[in-house]
Amino acid sequence: MKKIGIIICARYQDCGGGKCFRALRERHGGFSLYGPDEEVEIVGYANCGGCPGGNIEHVPAEFLKNGCDVVHLATGLVVGYPPCPSISQFKQFIESHYGLPVVVGTHPIPLKYLETHSKLSFWNAEGVKEFVDPLLTEHRRVMESYN
Ligand code: SF4
Repeated sequence: MKKIGIIICARYQDCGGGKCFRALRERHGGFSLYGPDEEVEIVGYANCGGCPGGNIEHVPAEFLKNGCDVVHLATGLVVGYPPCPSISQFKQFIESHYGLPVVVGTHPIPLKYLETHSKLSFWNAEGVKEFVDPLLTEHRRVMESYN
C-alpha cells in the first residue's frame, strides 16, 4: 500500500482534481511509478497556500498523521505560466525536514501545454528534467488525452 499526499499550486486551488485522480487510476504521469496492482491511497490533498508557498512548511505534517509515504507535487507547478519557481526548494525541504520522498508530477503534462512551453525560453525542459522525467517520457498520445 502506497499512501500518497498531493500538493497543488494555489493558483489552481479551485481545481477538482480530475486529471490527478484519473492519472492515479490509470497509473500515468507521476503515478506511473506505481505498478497496476500496487494498492494506493490518497491520504491528503492541499494547495501550497499561495506564493511563496507557506503551506509547504506545515501540510506534510498533516499527511504524516495519516501515514503518508510519499508526496506528489502536482503537475500544475511545472506547467503553469510561469512554472513555480520554488519546485526544487519545496522538494528539498519536504525530503529533508519530513523525511518524505517527493515526486514532482501527478497527471501527464497535457500536450498543448508541453507544446507551448517548449517555445518559451523560461521553460527549460532540460533544466526540469531531473525531477519531471516520468512526465516528459510519457507517450505523446497519452499527453494529448489530458489536453
Ligand atoms: S507558483 Fe509555486 S508558490 Fe506560487 S502558488 Fe503556485 S505552487 Fe505555490
